[in-house]
Amino acid sequence: MIDLHVHSTFSDGSFSPEELVEMAVQSGLSALALTDHDTTDGVPRLLSASEASGIVGVGGVEISAEFAGGTMHLLGLDVNPAESALQEALARIRMGRGERNQQIVTHLNELGLALPWERVEPLANGGVVGRPHIAQAMVECGLVSSREKAFSRFLRRGGPAYAERFRLSPEEGIGRIRGAGGVPVLAHPFTLGLRFRKLRECVRELSAMGLQGIEVFYPEHGQERRAQYTELAKEFDLVMTGGSDFHGAANPAIHLGRGFGNVCVSDGILVALRDRVQRGDSS
Ligand code: AMP
Ligand code: ZN
Ligand code: FE
Ligand code: FE
Repeated sequence: MIDLHVHSTFSDGSFSPEELVEMAVQSGLSALALTDHDTTDGVPRLLSASEASGIVGVGGVEISAEFAGGTMHLLGLDVNPAESALQEALARIRMGRGERNQQIVTHLNELGLALPWERVEPLANGGVVGRPHIAQAMVECGLVSSREKAFSRFLRRGGPAYAERFRLSPEEGIGRIRGAGGVPVLAHPFTLGLRFRKLRECVRELSAMGLQGIEVFYPEHGQERRAQYTELAKEFDLVMTGGSDFHGAANPAIHLGRGFGNVCVSDGILVALRDRVQRGDSS
């Protein structure tokens, strides 16, 4: 069993890469991909820890792409973190995040909620600061009773404190991942908010841009979604991937490797993924 979608303290997860590897070993996983939001900074640590523990480490990243209406996340699996065009794009995204975080805090202040930035930043421990950290700081400052309330009342997309941030176009996201030797994968396709027919058209377009994988196994995917995404994988010759999207404390119901207990990604998936890399640009 493997897990190809995991977050660490380098973004909004609560465990370090070393802790994740340790937990993966405990859970009997044979491979683990680190897919932090907008950064590969945790990848070298994941790779050395996994090498030392005898499991396979996979360098990865999760990039949010521009998509009207819904949320489009692209996983880049097996990317080379040293590739400079990818790093330049990720740096641009993180810069956009920085501006956006300040706008959210300003919005909160305008709404009469005094949230000092000094209470937010340390929560990321030097990693990428996201809305989950802002939500956590709001709880710690006594402005809301829970992180969920922080999102539902203020931080959700379209909420009163929300601010947009710079995202890559899907085409550029896919291109940067491919350029860094990685496999671009459409993560949790249901968050696009499309019915199946529209989703198929979207996946067709993404495939034409160079998409090579689709996340089929995922905690929020029941039988119907898995069947639909499997169909799309076959139609567009995409590798089927899967993972738990484990964050640790931010969502305690999700377990590494197993999601809600309904995820089980077989070792053969990683073999298929790596075959796809070998095949290169033939698609
Ligand atoms: P950001 O990347 O800063 O826009 O934050 C996105 C993260 O916020 C997601 O990965 C989720 O973990 C979390 N998130 C987004 N929407 C919600 C919500 N409605 N309730 C709780 N957490 C959310
Ligand atoms: Zn996250
Ligand atoms: Fe995601
Ligand atoms: Fe994720």
